[in-house]
Amino acid sequence: LEPKEEFEHKSLAVDVMRPRRADPALAVLTQEGMTVEEAEALVASTRYSGFPVVVSQESQRLVGFVLRRDLLISIDNARQRQEGVVSSSQVLFTEHPPAQAADAPPPVRLRSLLDLSPFTVADHTPMDITVDIFRKLGLRQCLVTHNGRLLGIITKKDILKHMAQMANRDPDSILFN
Ligand code: ADP
Repeated sequence: LEPKEEFEHKSLAVDVMRPRRADPALAVLTQEGMTVEEAEALVASTRYSGFPVVVSQESQRLVGFVLRRDLLISIDNARQRQEGVVSSSQVLFTEHPPAQAADAPPPVRLRSLLDLSPFTVADHTPMDITVDIFRKLGLRQCLVTHNGRLLGIITKKDILKHMAQMANRDPDSILFN
């Protein structure tokens, strides 16, 4: 057996990520099928700095990550400058536009906003490794997946809070070494 203190410290990405069990679900956008109005409502109902974009709610397969600020600016821009854009226009993050009814309002295409390779770790990645990656790559956030399904998000602040909790419990936590 490992010495006791070794595995007491083995928090995993899944222990630190949000949402916690009792929290509302991860706020995600789908790459197609959402309207401008729905995207705006999602952003307005949260204060998160960014949103993962997934293939569909059912699949929870990650497509990319979009910053709140970029999303708001681009939707505003499209509403003001793009001919025919209304609340019921589709928001699209796909490469190619899906077929739409001839009388549908023009979609707002936002793929260029996406970070197509957001950093991800598997849910069972030990936190000491995750912290190391954050430090070395200067990450602000990282997504957590299980078998390719998006589960959650860890921000730099989440890590700092976790480290503070660990330090309270045990100042010799391996996270500090
Ligand atoms: P920070 O952690 O720097 O305050 P955010 O405002 O983006 O950054 O996130 C606030 C909290 O919400 C963090 O605990 C983070 O893990 C969580 N969070 C961030 N983005 C999302 C999201 N899209 N859905 C659910 N929770 C999120």
